[in-house]
Amino acid sequence: MLNPATGEAIAEAPASTAADVDRAVAAARGAFEGWARTTPAERSLALLRIADALERDADEIARLEATNAGKPLQAFKDDEIPFMVDNLRFFAGAARTMEGKPAGEYLEGYTSMVRREPVGVVGQIAPWNYPLMMAVWKIGPALATGNTVVLKPAPTTPLTSLRLAGLAAQHLPNGVLNVVAGGTEPGAALVEHPDVDMVSLTGSVETGKWVAAHAAQTLKRVHLELGGKAPVIVFDDVELGSALETIAGTGYYNAGQDCTAATRVLAAGDVYDDVVGGLAEQARGLVMGDTLAADTTLGPLNSRRQRERVEGFLERAPARAEVVTGGHEPELPGFFLEPTVVANLQQDDELVQREIFGPVITVQRFSDEGDAIAWANGTPYGLASSVWTRDLGRALRVANALRFGCVWINDHIPLVSEMPHGGFKESGYGKDLSVYSLEDYTVVKHVMASLS
Ligand code: NAD
Repeated sequence: MLNPATGEAIAEAPASTAADVDRAVAAARGAFEGWARTTPAERSLALLRIADALERDADEIARLEATNAGKPLQAFKDDEIPFMVDNLRFFAGAARTMEGKPAGEYLEGYTSMVRREPVGVVGQIAPWNYPLMMAVWKIGPALATGNTVVLKPAPTTPLTSLRLAGLAAQHLPNGVLNVVAGGTEPGAALVEHPDVDMVSLTGSVETGKWVAAHAAQTLKRVHLELGGKAPVIVFDDVELGSALETIAGTGYYNAGQDCTAATRVLAAGDVYDDVVGGLAEQARGLVMGDTLAADTTLGPLNSRRQRERVEGFLERAPARAEVVTGGHEPELPGFFLEPTVVANLQQDDELVQREIFGPVITVQRFSDEGDAIAWANGTPYGLASSVWTRDLGRALRVANALRFGCVWINDHIPLVSEMPHGGFKESGYGKDLSVYSLEDYTVVKHVMASLS
């Protein structure tokens, strides 16, 4: 494992093999009946205790994540730790209050009832951009509803998931939560394993398609969160100062390695120049450097490979594209890239069409609402979006027309445990967070009893 901020080795993790996955799946299968039979209250208590342990060990876990994933330590402590603790507490509570159709006599002489049962053994494959938070979003609803889990973090960022397994082991029966390390080999083994009932992935569209195709061989349930290309539609009636501060803040957050990042700005003609200039000014105000220092606001890319990937997009930009600021590697160790604004782009440009997953904000100019909506919808992705205007009718009209799993109005990026997070189109299917995620990890059974 490397520290992306320095490029130096910080730890070694095993590369789990298909045989290790077999053992983990067998452990999860062995634990399943017992765990599925526990009451929601018992499972809830276990999750609450894991949440408490995470809160208690927050400082140590934050240092681990900051050094393994290249995140500014303070941002992780302020934003991610409290949210993850809240997520776990939400899952713990929501699992006790699941709702559904009333039992009743829908046919004379018979009583029918619906049971929501756990799916079984769930294979969960996590990405490297929010290693621990994605692990929490996966194991929380799965465990709360009585499934047992084999979790595989991304190959570059396993440390906090392994730490989480250590914490959880004190509050869960053996075999309920298993963590394997490594990359594609154990990942594929989970997807193809005949004794895994469901697989959930947060990662790239390509991997999602592979997972869906291969899970089809055993007809596993599939849950996919596959990234996005969030459009940010800025009309000419907003107060630009605060809007651009938020847009840049959420576009460069986590160095843009966020599937909801505000990185595809569509600006109305009248404000286009001010939007481009204002975003560049915000970018120049970011502080890169030691991720453990309190004043660092922009961390590195997660890996050399990811930085090369982002630089590739910039190298292939059309001649008309204008790199207003950034675009280079700063004089720093590790995998940093300057926060970048690229203007004068058009709808078919690769920079507009494909997820960059780096500190690069693109800007396009639009002249009417119809074009803005069509361009916003005009990529294969459909995860998150935002519309910025003081005109309520227009805000709701645009929100209704946007084909995304989330639309923010006059903001971008805030999430809450109670509301669903998940995509349309090639951003995948299945919801994280909220009661919808709990439902995704259950199967519905109809029990019908003759009254005679
Ligand atoms: P990836 O999809 O290759 O990796 C995500 C996870 O899937 C990792 O744990 C990886 O080991 C696993 N995986 C990869 N191939 C697999 C397979 N065949 N079977 C089972 N598991 C497999 O993502 P990446 O290559 O690390 O990143 C590439 C791009 O993906 C990024 O630039 C970004 O655009 C996108 N991405 C999106 C998210 C997100 O939050 N939705 C997260 C990470 C990456």
